[in-house]
Amino acid sequence: MRGLQIVHFSSSPSSHPYILNPRIPVPPITSSQLLIKIAVAGYCHTETMVARGEFARMALHDPLPQIPGHEPTGWVAAVGSEVGGEWEVGMRVGCLNYRNPCGACEECKAGRVLYCPNMQMAGVTADGAMAEYMVADPLTTVRLPPSLTFESAAPLFCAGATIYASLLKASLSPGQAVAIVGVGALGHLGVQFAKVMGLRVVAVDSRSAPLELVQTLRHPPDITLNSSTTPVSAALAQLPFQVDASIIATDALPAYDYALNLTRRHGTVVVVGQPGEPIPVQYGMLVFRDLTLRGSVLSSPEVCREMIKVFTEHELEVRTKVYALEEVDALIEDTHREGMAGKMVVRVAEVF
Ligand SMILES: [Zn+2]
Ligand SMILES: [Zn+2]
Repeated sequence: MRGLQIVHFSSSPSSHPYILNPRIPVPPITSSQLLIKIAVAGYCHTETMVARGEFARMALHDPLPQIPGHEPTGWVAAVGSEVGGEWEVGMRVGCLNYRNPCGACEECKAGRVLYCPNMQMAGVTADGAMAEYMVADPLTTVRLPPSLTFESAAPLFCAGATIYASLLKASLSPGQAVAIVGVGALGHLGVQFAKVMGLRVVAVDSRSAPLELVQTLRHPPDITLNSSTTPVSAALAQLPFQVDASIIATDALPAYDYALNLTRRHGTVVVVGQPGEPIPVQYGMLVFRDLTLRGSVLSSPEVCREMIKVFTEHELEVRTKVYALEEVDALIEDTHREGMAGKMVVRVAEVF
C-alpha cells in the first residue's frame, strides 16, 4: 500500500520528516481488531512532535519506520473474527488514536483507558492513518453519520475530541463565559462547541488570521481579542463580563500568563497546548486568585460520540485545507505561513 513514513526522527526544522513509500505491506489484524481503509487523515500539530521523536520513549516497540497521522477516517475493510457488535465492511468510521489498552492496569480497571500506560497510539507510538490501510481497535472506533464528510470528520478525532473534552472539564453552565486562548485548529472548533453549549465566548489569539476566521463561523465568538495588540490589563478593562474559565489551545508560552490573568478569581484554566518548555505559573494565581489549573487529553469514545452528535446537529464547521499524500512537503511549508488558519487534512483514498 502507499503511505507516508517517518524513517528517522529529526528535530531539524528544515528536514523533510516523511517519505512516500509505495510498497508498505498492508498491516495484518488480529481476531479482535478492525482494518480500516483510510479516506482522509487530519494533520495535527502533534505530528511535528512525533517526527522529532518526542513520543518514542512511550512506544512499546521501536516505532520506526512509522506511519504518521492520528486523525483517521475511512471505511471498515475487514472485521476480526472475534469482534462483536455493529461493525460491517464498508461502514464509514473514524478512530480515536489509542488502541489495545491492557485491561489489567489500575487505569484500565478504573475505566480510564485513556491513561493506560500499556496502550498504543496510532500515528504517535505506532503506525497511523497516512497510508491506505490502518489497524483499529473497535473500542475506539466511532461510526460517522451519513451527513458528515470525511474531510470534516477527520479533524474531530483529535482536535474536536480534545477541545470538546476540555470544555467539559471546565465544568461551566450556560450563561457563563469561557476564553479560548489560541483559535487555530482546536480553538476554532472550541469556539463553536462553547457557543452551542450556551456559553459566552472570548476568542484570543496573537495572530489576526485565526481571529478573522472565527468571526466568519456560523457560531462566532462574542468577543475577539488580539493578544499581541491588547495587553491583558486592557482586555480586562474592556470585557463586559468576567471570564469563568479559559482553555489554552496553543503552545505559545505568553498565552499561559495571558489566560491565567484573564480568568476570574476561583476560575478554571484547562491546558491542552503542549509547549516544549515548562509553562509559567505565578504562585499568586493559585494562592491568592485560587485558580484551578488542570490538563485534558483527547476524550473517551463516549464523549467523542456525543461531540460528533453536537457537531452535526448544530451544523458546526471545520475549515479545512486538503492536501494529497504527495503534497505533504507543501503542507508542512504552509504550517509556517503567517496567514494559516483552520485545519489541514490529507486525502489518502483516491476515489470516494
Ligand atoms: Zn492531535
Ligand atoms: Zn491498561
